[in-house]
Amino acid sequence: MKTYNCEFLCVGGGVGGLMAAIAAGKKGADVIIAEKADTRRSGSGANGNDHFHCYIPECHGTDTERVYREIGSSFDAGPWVDMELTKVWIDRSFEVIQMWEDMGINMRPTGVWKFEGHGMPGQQLYNLKFDGALQKSCLTREAKQQGARILNHIIIHDLLADKDGRLAGAIGVDISEEIPETVMIQCEAVLLATGMVSRMYPSITPAYMFNTPCCPATTGDAQAMAYRFGARLVNMDMLNGHAGPKYFARGGKGTWIGVSTDIRGNTFTPYNSKPSRATGDITADVWPTCYRDRLKKGKGPTFMNCTETSPEDLDYMLHTAMVSEGIDSITDYCEHYGIDLSSDMVEFGTYPIMMGQRGIEIDTHARTSVPGLYAAGNCTGNVNGSLCGAAVFGMTAGEDAADYVKNTKDISRIDPADIQKYEDLYQDLLSRSDGAHWKEAASSLQNIMNEYASADQQSEDMLNAGIEYMRQLKANCYKELGCSNSHELMRSLEVLNMIDLSEPIFLCSRNRKETRGPHVRCDYDFTDITLNGKFQTIYKERNGTVHMDYRYKR
Ligand SMILES: Cc1cc2nc3c(=O)[nH]c(=O)nc-3n(C[C@H](O)[C@H](O)[C@H](O)COP(=O)(O)OP(=O)(O)OC[C@H]3O[C@@H](n4cnc5c(N)ncnc54)[C@H](O)[C@@H]3O)c2cc1C
Repeated sequence: MKTYNCEFLCVGGGVGGLMAAIAAGKKGADVIIAEKADTRRSGSGANGNDHFHCYIPECHGTDTERVYREIGSSFDAGPWVDMELTKVWIDRSFEVIQMWEDMGINMRPTGVWKFEGHGMPGQQLYNLKFDGALQKSCLTREAKQQGARILNHIIIHDLLADKDGRLAGAIGVDISEEIPETVMIQCEAVLLATGMVSRMYPSITPAYMFNTPCCPATTGDAQAMAYRFGARLVNMDMLNGHAGPKYFARGGKGTWIGVSTDIRGNTFTPYNSKPSRATGDITADVWPTCYRDRLKKGKGPTFMNCTETSPEDLDYMLHTAMVSEGIDSITDYCEHYGIDLSSDMVEFGTYPIMMGQRGIEIDTHARTSVPGLYAAGNCTGNVNGSLCGAAVFGMTAGEDAADYVKNTKDISRIDPADIQKYEDLYQDLLSRSDGAHWKEAASSLQNIMNEYASADQQSEDMLNAGIEYMRQLKANCYKELGCSNSHELMRSLEVLNMIDLSEPIFLCSRNRKETRGPHVRCDYDFTDITLNGKFQTIYKERNGTVHMDYRYKR
């Protein structure tokens, strides 16, 4: 086992994790980033992003109430966020833009601040069009310059406590070699920033588990670890997902310059009747389930229709915007198969549930309910902002954690006996090299989630059955799951974490005895107005007692 010491550990070297490391490093904290892949090209921002949802005073004016109202009601904030956090994201967004520009990220490819896409009708445009193709390598370079040590190819598996039960570090596995090595990191504060939950539900092509719209390596480890450690989660009952090219799962729907239409080319939402490079078509953002909903009603198929997009805009979309966004595999595919978007429409689909921005509850400093534990980005449950939100709250967490660790010097060391159970688990899994393969467990997990905690119809009976099946699956995994190398051990730990994460999803779904938004209960098909404006929270004490509550949106 390898042991490391630092003051502040960032779990996940995505956008949120790197920004936290940079901010904490600037304030003199001793920082380690532990990253499952390689921070230069990992997470949902690996290949690039092209929209930065932000407020720039010189472009949007000084009426911040208008900005809060408009961004606060946009798809990227949505109903399941706390407004006090949305304001932090908005207020600090320009600071991040300036910082990123200094790091060499191309925030104004045309030389001026330009806003395009994800446009809400009747509002100012807030999505800065930038070129994020190199964002991860620039952020990695800056994190190193601020003194952060980056440990790539380490999956962090669990949080560790000292003898008084206080957060004192984390344990994981180094998967850089064929034979894995256990890694323990001792520290005073931890940031969890492991992104979306990509593989908990079947992909749109179930035989290809990694055909997911966002990074398939982000598997909800942060939420699972936080839940086991007693941190409060929020909005776990509000299942959500994404949309895009039907069987070629890619995020980045806002980069398309076209309109959603039926097979005859007719639009079905009031937003855009013609393609607009300035606004894009907001349909897929505000109603990502429209492609599935319309199929179910016999109104499909539904297409992204670029046949009226100008040749200049098509060229720009395929050869500039999709490159900045990291989805130019779509461009390659079109060229390879002779798909001409000026005459061929692309069928879009609603992708299965992904659980982005559902998870760890944070406050305006990115603190969780556990002292010393922070969270940022897609793994948090009460703020959004996508890329910009991850950057702002990563930065906020890093700043706060740097102060926290200076005042928290009395954490006692982790007792080696406490980590024996992890060593035993890893040894058990590795000793069964001919045991059940992680894919068997993953596909069972996905089937149970899909049918018993589905987005379409839930009922007490189905949820109860799902809870029981998941308990059986977990017991079977601990008895039978086997792996023969580092890679398979990582995949197995991901599945075990997703099984743990299913618990708060099932419990909160069962506890919400009403139908509201994406939560559809056939046994409670009314909306309970006493729950208006409230979020459901859940946490588990170390003794296993679960607490669920409703609190007002802040
Ligand atoms: C194709 C595409 C286009 C997009 N375009 C935009 C856009 O234009 N604008 C926008 O605002 N948003 C966009 N997004 C979303 C945006 O990329 C995410 O919101 C953002 O990357 C979230 O940052 P994060 O730090 O929360 O997670 P990520 O950037 O996904 O980083 C999570 C990191 O954690 C690591 N990790 C996971 N588990 C572990 C573990 N157990 N131990 C160690 N490390 C772990 C992962 O490898 C990864 O590096 C897009 C996403 C996709 C996929």
